[in-house]
Amino acid sequence: MSSKRDYYEVLGIEKNSDIAAIKSAYRHLALKYHPDRVPDEKKKEAEEKFKEISEAYAVLSDPQKRANYDKFGHAGIDQQYSYEDIFRQADFSDFSDILNNIFGGGPGRGGGFSSFFSGGRFGARESAHRQTTGRDVEIRVSITLEDAYGGCEKEVTYTRGVKCSSCDGSGAKAGTKPVRCPLCKGRGVITEGSFIFSVERICPECGGRGTVIKYKCGVCAGHGLEKKNEKIKVKIPRGVISGTSLRVRNKGYESPEGIPGNLYVVVQVEPHSAFERIENDLSTHIDIPYPVAVLGGKISVPTLEKDIQMKIPPSCKDGQVFRLKGYGMPRLNASYSGDLFVKIGIFIPSKISSKEKAFLEEYLKQFSASFGEKKPFYKKIFE
Ligand SMILES: [Zn+2]
Ligand SMILES: [Zn+2]
Repeated sequence: MSSKRDYYEVLGIEKNSDIAAIKSAYRHLALKYHPDRVPDEKKKEAEEKFKEISEAYAVLSDPQKRANYDKFGHAGIDQQYSYEDIFRQADFSDFSDILNNIFGGGPGRGGGFSSFFSGGRFGARESAHRQTTGRDVEIRVSITLEDAYGGCEKEVTYTRGVKCSSCDGSGAKAGTKPVRCPLCKGRGVITEGSFIFSVERICPECGGRGTVIKYKCGVCAGHGLEKKNEKIKVKIPRGVISGTSLRVRNKGYESPEGIPGNLYVVVQVEPHSAFERIENDLSTHIDIPYPVAVLGGKISVPTLEKDIQMKIPPSCKDGQVFRLKGYGMPRLNASYSGDLFVKIGIFIPSKISSKEKAFLEEYLKQFSASFGEKKPFYKKIFE
């Protein structure tokens, strides 16, 4: 405690200075060392200095505390009061209040300390940031697999908050203006804790604006925003997968004081009747006639771009899978594509002509004869 500098020395005044001299010295030093008035690299030093001079002033400007200090030095103060107590008793909630209290000033009084300190931050100022970004909006858009394959542009309609056209975002009734917040005195933050180790937090009364609305705008009920339907075109990249969230900057809610939020477009790729998608690969199912399965041949396979020819080898099995490289989905943000898997089934007609029936019966006779020779166990099935 005794390492503290003498309060008179701190303020640069004589021991017998009167209250006017104390005030004048403090005001001069407070302006010089206020952390918001010095370059960044000097801020830390200035803060320390500012605390020191404010503490000296708090004691010397109070006759009782000054008397104690004069008699016992720092010990007389430290033992009786913490500085937190000093300032709590004085009900000073922030620096501009302290200074206004001492020197007068405030709005309309010729630029007192309040104008100088308005918006000033001190102590834990990093922690007290008001959120001035508008709300984000999330919408969903459904696209086809073909759209996802080629990429597309979609027009979407959604609702966002824009600055109220009646009050231009102020939230105040036409002809009126927001007034200074009575709780934080326009600073937007309130100081809690002790004077020395204070913490600032966003003012609960005004939400950090520093102003409150007395007469609310009838259109936006004081929120400063009104809802508007917005129509925009969103570019959807090729290869997009379900659940991808595309950000459209600044297309969320506007903010009466800050920058707008973002719009997030969540893409939903609809299921396809012919293709199943597994990441970047596609699969499809094709039934081929029995003679093609046995003899082999060429079939036409649909892809998302065009039909292509695929060779079926002789004796193709039911359920056999063929892989067509590069005919799957394009990979998002890459130049290569997945594969297309073709699963082969045997086509069983539900109706056949009498001519076909005769052919098949003849075939069965031939078949059962040769099949029965090789596999006697099945013989009775055909008899
Ligand atoms: Zn309004
Ligand atoms: Zn406030």
